[in-house]
Amino acid sequence: MNHKLRRETKAVQALHYKDPLSGSVIPPIYTSTTYARNENYELISEKYSYGRDENPSYIIPEKMLAELEGGEEALLFSSGMAAAVSVFQVLNPGDHVVAPKIMYWGLRQWLVEFSEKWGVDINFYNSNEPQALSNSVIKGKTKLVWIETPCNPTWDIIDIKEAASIAHNNGAKLVVDATVTTPVITRPIEYGADIVMHSATKYLNGHGDVIAGALICAKRDKFWDQIRQIRIHGGAVLGPFEAWLLQRGMRTLYLRVQHASANAMQIATHFLSDKRITEILYPGLSNHPGHNVAKQQMSLGFGGMLSFRIKGGEQAALKMVKACNVFLRATSLGGIESLIEHRYSIEGKNSPIPKDLVRISVGIESIDDLIGDLEQALGKI
Ligand SMILES: *Cc1c(COP(=O)(O)O)cnc(C)c1O
Repeated sequence: MNHKLRRETKAVQALHYKDPLSGSVIPPIYTSTTYARNENYELISEKYSYGRDENPSYIIPEKMLAELEGGEEALLFSSGMAAAVSVFQVLNPGDHVVAPKIMYWGLRQWLVEFSEKWGVDINFYNSNEPQALSNSVIKGKTKLVWIETPCNPTWDIIDIKEAASIAHNNGAKLVVDATVTTPVITRPIEYGADIVMHSATKYLNGHGDVIAGALICAKRDKFWDQIRQIRIHGGAVLGPFEAWLLQRGMRTLYLRVQHASANAMQIATHFLSDKRITEILYPGLSNHPGHNVAKQQMSLGFGGMLSFRIKGGEQAALKMVKACNVFLRATSLGGIESLIEHRYSIEGKNSPIPKDLVRISVGIESIDDLIGDLEQALGKI
C-alpha cells in the first residue's frame, strides 16, 4: 500500500488488529495481576511484572490514542480526573500554573485546593478576554499552561497555537483538555500542545459505561516519564475490562462524533432566532466570538456540545429542562444518547455559570425527535 491510511480507518480496525496467537480480529482481555519469570528468574516479557505497572490490555487502546492524536505515546488512567491530577503532581512547590476561569468544574475545584496544599501558585484567566492568558504567565516561574477548548459549558474558544507559543516563550508546557473535541475534530499536538488530556468517559468510549482517562504526549521527555511513575505508584490504573470496552468504543469514534456534531449544528441553526432563547453558545455559529479560530482548529464539525441561555432566567431554564421527554436529565456528555442539564444547579453557589444556562450534549438520535423535544419543552416555559 503506498498511501497513508486515514485515522478513521485505523480507528475502525483498532490498528488492523490480528491476534498473533489465534488470528482473532478482536484483542483479548488480560486479567492477570502478575507475570511469571523463567528458570533464570527473568521476566518472560520484560515489560510486564505486575498489574499496577502495566497491562497488555492497554496496548491497543494506548496505541490507538497516540496514533489518532499524532503523539508519541499515550497512557490510560482510571478516570479523566486521575489523568489530569497526574500532570499537576509532577509540579514542585513554588511552581506557577495558569488555567481558564471557566473549565471542567471538578478539576477547577481540585486545583484550588491542591494549589494551597501543595504550594503551587495558580492564576485563573478569563478565556474570552484577549491578552488575558499572556498577561497571567510569569516567565521562568510558570511551568504549566492548562487550557480547555471549547471551555465547558460556555464553549468559548481558545487559540491553541497562540497558547502554545505563549507557554513555550515562557518556558512552560501546554496541556490541552481535549475531551470535548476528540482527535476527530481537533488534534492539539498539531498546534503545538505538549500533552493532550481526555476524559475517555465521554466521547472516546461514547457509550456511558466506562470511567476512564488518557494522556497523550507530543514527545517523551523527563516530565512524561514522571507522569508514568505517578500512574505506577499512585495506582490510578484502568481495569482490563474497561480498557477493552474503551478500544471497542473508539472504533466508532469518527461516526459518532461526526453525527453528534451534525445534529448539534442543526439544533443551533434551528433555534437561532427563537425568541425564547436569548443566546445560543455554539462555536459552529458564525456569530460566536470564537468562530474564526474554531474554523482554523476544528474540522469535520464543531462538536456535539452547546448551551442555550433561556429567556426568563433560572426558573424558565429549570422549567424547560423538566419538560424534556427525549433528552435525559443527567450530567456528563459525549454519549450516544442526548443529555440536558441545568449546570448552575449541579455546580452550586460558587459557580461562575449563568443561572439561565442549559447545557446540551447532543447524541446520535433522529434529529427530528431531538428538535421536536426541545420545541415542546420550550413551549412549556
Ligand atoms: C468529565 C470531564 C473531566 C473529568 O473526567 P472523569 O472521567 O469524569 O474523571 C475532565 N474534563 C472534561 C472537559 C470533562 O468533561
